[in-house]
Amino acid sequence: MHYFSFKKNNLYCENIKVQDLAAKFGTPVYIYSSRTILEHFIKLRDAFKKLKPLICYSVKANSNLSILKLLTSAGAGLDIVSGGELYRAKRVRCPGEKIVYASVGKTDKEIKDAINYGIFAFNVESIPELERIAVIAESLKKKVKVALRLNPDVEGDTHAYITTGKKETKFGMDIQTVKKIFLNRGDYPYLKIEGLHMHIGSQITKAAPFVKAIKKAKELLSELKKRNIKLKYINIGGGLGIVYDKERPQTAKEFASKIIPLLSGLKLKLVLEPGRFIVGNAGILAAKVIYIKRTPKKKFVVVDAAMNDLARPSLYEAYHRIVPVTKLKVKKDRKLADVVGPICESGDFLGKSRKLDVNKGQIIAVMGTGAYGFSMSSNYNSRPRAAEVLVKNKKAYLIRKRENYKDLIKKELLI
Ligand code: PLP
Repeated sequence: MHYFSFKKNNLYCENIKVQDLAAKFGTPVYIYSSRTILEHFIKLRDAFKKLKPLICYSVKANSNLSILKLLTSAGAGLDIVSGGELYRAKRVRCPGEKIVYASVGKTDKEIKDAINYGIFAFNVESIPELERIAVIAESLKKKVKVALRLNPDVEGDTHAYITTGKKETKFGMDIQTVKKIFLNRGDYPYLKIEGLHMHIGSQITKAAPFVKAIKKAKELLSELKKRNIKLKYINIGGGLGIVYDKERPQTAKEFASKIIPLLSGLKLKLVLEPGRFIVGNAGILAAKVIYIKRTPKKKFVVVDAAMNDLARPSLYEAYHRIVPVTKLKVKKDRKLADVVGPICESGDFLGKSRKLDVNKGQIIAVMGTGAYGFSMSSNYNSRPRAAEVLVKNKKAYLIRKRENYKDLIKKELLI
């Protein structure tokens, strides 16, 4: 579900023509629909209403301040993974008690800053990290809330690079280690070790892997209960998949209907950390066709966006639908096209073997790029980053200026 649709021959974001936005703000440009973002958040919140969850939007999916503000104003908390994301959370005045912090490599400064801001909990990924947080908490004379990230060793049924719940990955701790820490939690007087966290991967389209992981967690919880160790909350992470191509992902309701019965009896507060589910289909990347290049072997649609703007196709061979934003009368071509950017890498493509009849100068939209699009972008090949635009209440707002050449060298020192 999203608010990008064709009316007659034009693609609209809510009530505004994408063609007009491209003309006004230039290309490449990320365009987001606030209505789509909010409705996704509300769908998830409503689906889990019975458990009154804390929904911490995963900042890494799309960290633009205006998007964070949109969601936190609607009641979302934030899931962060770095000092930089904490800084963003502070800038949008997200209350500390609605922030959870995961990451296998939290530095002393990051830990200290997060404690001082009074976050809800650290999601702890190793014993050395736990010990570091304990030392810093003691030095600050503050009691700090901690959830242990369990690696449940389940297959997420997704791309290897976004699987995080298998024991071969760097994330979380195995069940025995987690159990041992809970049993000895009295050893850490400055830590309140009272939560269990999991995040098994991203773009997971079915409930089964979550169910499997939660069942493993429940076994652990019941063993702990027998030893009189009671927890206060369980965080089941993010990872809900969306439609990019032909996927048929579970809806929020379907997901909740499988998960709620598993959690209902536990009397634990529920935390969720969705990213992609909320913003993935709420954004597109609009780009202009620079050339149509034909070689004896292939046809290439060369556009002004590239792998620096959208890394997912190159990184994960991710599929994104690509459409012209205005359906013009174009000569039909039986040849399929690779949609590529100007970067000097054969891996620089946005789509391969596409049926795409477009002319030079036309605007195309790379669909479903609201999550892990801009937030993973870079300046590779000294390309200034794209602008970002948010459509909200029938108006389009520039929420990040297009970078310019000066921005590229701003931090460099010429010696
Ligand atoms: N929580 C954690 C700990 C993550 O690492 C991620 C993504 O990598 C998320 C939540 C969000 O995942 P998704 O965008 O798939 O919902």
